[in-house]
Amino acid sequence: MKNILFAISGPSGVGKGTLVKMLLEGDENLVSSVSCTTRAPRAGETDGEDYFFIDRETFEKKIAAGGFLEYDEHFGNYYGTPLSFVEETLQKKSVILEIDVKGAMSAKAKKPDTVTIFIAPPSAEELKKRLRGRHSESEEQIAERVARAEYEESFAPQYDYTVINDDLNETYARLRFIIESERVKE
Ligand code: 5GP
Repeated sequence: MKNILFAISGPSGVGKGTLVKMLLEGDENLVSSVSCTTRAPRAGETDGEDYFFIDRETFEKKIAAGGFLEYDEHFGNYYGTPLSFVEETLQKKSVILEIDVKGAMSAKAKKPDTVTIFIAPPSAEELKKRLRGRHSESEEQIAERVARAEYEESFAPQYDYTVINDDLNETYARLRFIIESERVKE
């Protein structure tokens, strides 16, 4: 059985967080990557678990040393996937990155054997319904997220797999099938 790097993307509200959690709970040979960030830890976050919290100077040195599989800046802070963590973990287990479209494409460019999976909503209408159901976003934020989702979906053809999340358990079964199939491929 091979250890594989999986990169999973999908719009906010599509259910990817829940699906990744289900995959991790059901598979002891799969772990999620821990990213580095320059932002301050929030209450309840643990260094080395939620993120590796490092300062800007350390982050920039790590960029210069080629220490990231990919990195980006969000809201004035750096975020990146540490190459050493991914490579060391891949010696023992498969690794899953829950990452945005840009990050997934960068990871694939740097490590072409990365298996990329895009989780799509059944429709824009359904995504809106799910976002409304979370009661955490205003109508304006929902419209922004739907526009962002359309942008992200334009990358779907570049992914190795696209899975439409119409039913959580069915989607989970499809993802498990992809993971198992990739592990035994020659
Ligand atoms: P937060 O500060 O809320 O934890 O995350 C802010 C943003 O950073 C989210 O959109 C999250 O997906 C993104 N992010 C977290 N880790 C990484 C990473 O390793 N690489 C990239 N490119 N983005 C990340």
